[in-house]
Amino acid sequence: SGKSDLLIVYHRLPYEEIIEKGQIKRRRPSSPNGIIPTLLSFFDGGCTGTWVAWSIRAPRMDFEDYTQFDGDRHPNLTVSRIPMSKQEVDVFYKSFSKEAFWPLLHTFWERAHFREDHWQIFLRVNRAFAERIARDAAHGATVWLHDYNLWMIPAALREQRNDLKIAFFHHTYFPSADVFNVVPWCRAIVGSLLQCDYIGFHIPRQVENFVDVVRGAMPVRVLEESSAAPRFLTYGCAVGLDRYATCIEAGHRIVRLGAHPVGLDVQRVKTTLEREDVRQRMQQLRSSLAGTRMLLSVERLDYTKGTLEKLQAFERMLEAHSGLIGKVTLLTICVPAAREMTVYRQLQTQIEQAVGRINGRWSRVGWTPVQFFFRSLPFEELVAYYAMADLTWITPLRDGLNLVAKEFGAVQGLTNGRGVLVLSEFAGAAAELKGAVLTNPHDIEDLAQACYHALNIGQAEARARLRQLFEIVCHYDNRRWAEEFLGAINASSPPAVATM
Ligand code: UDP
Repeated sequence: SGKSDLLIVYHRLPYEEIIEKGQIKRRRPSSPNGIIPTLLSFFDGGCTGTWVAWSIRAPRMDFEDYTQFDGDRHPNLTVSRIPMSKQEVDVFYKSFSKEAFWPLLHTFWERAHFREDHWQIFLRVNRAFAERIARDAAHGATVWLHDYNLWMIPAALREQRNDLKIAFFHHTYFPSADVFNVVPWCRAIVGSLLQCDYIGFHIPRQVENFVDVVRGAMPVRVLEESSAAPRFLTYGCAVGLDRYATCIEAGHRIVRLGAHPVGLDVQRVKTTLEREDVRQRMQQLRSSLAGTRMLLSVERLDYTKGTLEKLQAFERMLEAHSGLIGKVTLLTICVPAAREMTVYRQLQTQIEQAVGRINGRWSRVGWTPVQFFFRSLPFEELVAYYAMADLTWITPLRDGLNLVAKEFGAVQGLTNGRGVLVLSEFAGAAAELKGAVLTNPHDIEDLAQACYHALNIGQAEARARLRQLFEIVCHYDNRRWAEEFLGAINASSPPAVATM
């Protein structure tokens, strides 16, 4: 494979690999998240580059380091596969990342388990990534790293290649120093990240938290941007987020930082809505819901998403407002975590018990208050639910952004709907999506009241809120996000020249 000028590095491949009859087959990721489609859409416009990820090396099978992704849709995208043993992947991804860093980043630090032997494997995996990137990158190439699983790449990569532009984007929340400093290796992580030229987060609060962590870890100077690039810029529309940028001088390096909430592929939503099967699904849903209002909930199975709290609040709402009995249905789509992830088993049982309890208590002939789908739905089907929902209830206790909120806003806006978004104030998207009704999911009473209030919002207000939501979702879409981020990388300072 030739050398690349742009490398997108995410630990997972853009597809899932399964081994069938001694052959590798590809399929859609069984556990969808927002990251893969976002990064892939970046290559829709014919942009050339390489996607670097791990892949399991199966015994007695040849391993190809390089492959094409999809010759039709992304002819210019090469996939660079790093061979890993199943044990390495299990520790790096399924145990360590999810049991140590994931809870900590979402401020559940009591849940975080740190193991030195796992950290060593994490380092080894990150080093393997750095070596591969050093081999794949052309001189002066841009390397765009994604998410916390890859924190230690910048340090390992800089040792080998001082010519590269290294950028990092955090897709999760980033907590305050009080929480982050609990990590036994926090200085090493910060030191590695400061080898980047640019570091991006979703919202300003996350940037500020990171700057605070850096300040506590080592002597640095935090510089304001020059007046030519004002510190705050607003989106070109009436609502949205103040853009936020700052920079840090660490040793001989200048590291720039900025807030860039991931944008949605609105075009994909539009094309999906035009499909005949999606329209039919919408019709079916409309008739099956006759007479009841649909509250929709969509999330992965994860304690950070507040599914259990939402179920409690729903029950509380039925207790307080008997007029809702038989009139509202909570449709909960909960995407299972990958098997073997033991941390999620107990939560699953608790959620199933809560659903059983609520339905056992309140169901009537012809009405089941909670419809629980414990599986992942294809995007096309999800879009039909977004269109038919009277309200989407998004309740994370902590979330980096939350794309579901934007997807609902886009679908409702495109179908001229009047659905209301009830959104946790602890989701990054709450800083951006001004039309949402905000709620505190740590307070069951508030959750229930916000939902009840949203159900009773008049048509005019619902439409006005939706207009705000739709405007921001369309304005700051995935293309603008990628352009802006790449622009920021390019504007960042060149790597420091080694001083004698
Ligand atoms: N999603 C999906 N099928 C499902 C549930 C979710 O395709 O059954 C997608 C959804 O459209 C969204 C993503 O998964 O794009 C979830 O992204 P979000 O930012 O809300 O949360 P994350 O899972 O990344 O924390």
